[in-house]
Amino acid sequence: MVISMRHDATEEQIQAVIEKIQSLNLDSHRSTGMNYTVIGAVGDTAAIDQRDFEILDGVGEVVRISAPYKMASRQFQPFDSVIKVGNDIEIGGRQVVVMAGPCAVEGKDQIEQIAARVAGSGAKILRGGAFKPRTSPYSFQGMGEEGLQLMRTAADKHGLAVISEIMDASQIEVMLPYVDILQVGARNMQNFTLLRALGVLDKPVLLKRGLSATIEELLMSAEYLLSGGNKSVILCERGIRTFETYTRNTMDICAIPVVQKLSHLPMVADPSHGTGIRDKVLPMARAATAAGADGLIIEVHHQPDKAVSDGAQSLYPDQFGKLMKELEIIARAIGRTLGE
Ligand code: PEP
Ligand code: MN
Repeated sequence: MVISMRHDATEEQIQAVIEKIQSLNLDSHRSTGMNYTVIGAVGDTAAIDQRDFEILDGVGEVVRISAPYKMASRQFQPFDSVIKVGNDIEIGGRQVVVMAGPCAVEGKDQIEQIAARVAGSGAKILRGGAFKPRTSPYSFQGMGEEGLQLMRTAADKHGLAVISEIMDASQIEVMLPYVDILQVGARNMQNFTLLRALGVLDKPVLLKRGLSATIEELLMSAEYLLSGGNKSVILCERGIRTFETYTRNTMDICAIPVVQKLSHLPMVADPSHGTGIRDKVLPMARAATAAGADGLIIEVHHQPDKAVSDGAQSLYPDQFGKLMKELEIIARAIGRTLGE
């Protein structure tokens, strides 16, 4: 952290800053020029609130140099993390892993039909919510354990792994036997109690970026999981809320290379929630793949007009099949694969 003093700061004010740095068990490094003084605070500054320095008399500006997250950072681990899912899937390696399925599990026939179609097109993981975070308490809230059972059966039949959203730590026990990845939804990205509970598990977690979360906040939430001991963390860009109204969210494609530079964790993209409109999902899925996403999570429904949730952003199985062929070409063009 670098504290730059105002040009009219007194020696007393400079000393007060140095004392404050030392009281926090950090080293202080002073550099004084003709009409400026800059003081470096060196050490473990992650937990320090920079405003504590900003309010001191004589301080002009405080700039944080090192990131407040540690275990999620590239400095901590320079090589990419590769997360093992089930027996034979790796996220963060050469292969771009596609997760696909309905927004919510609605019944046996629905999940079975969709699982068959997405598996046939090359998806590796079946998505589907059994516990749904809905904006309205009157909307369908998910099938719960029955939905998980149906999903597991359909997935096993077609050689797929399972990802499903967990909304509360009380659901851990019921979910663990059925799922291969626990998804933390955008609305729960900063549910620190939930993150701490998931941090002690030996189960991959996919952490979605919050609706209005910065990339740094996403990485800080990942830090909760990593610092608890769970190293199987996958990050996900799913669109953020901006002033734009023509799309449900604004798909921040640039977050993919930004996160990959800052962190060793795999970064996947969700163009379904990122756009909210079926015909926009296709170009954003292509763009995310081209931008280097380690995977995609895409909503697919065999009858989107009858879907209980997110039908408008769910692809028809045929559309998904065509998209997978295009993604294969894009993946190959950047030295990756979509299939084997
Ligand atoms: C979902 O994946 O169905 C979902 C609710 O996503 P998000 O948390 O990104 O809104
Ligand atoms: Mn959805």
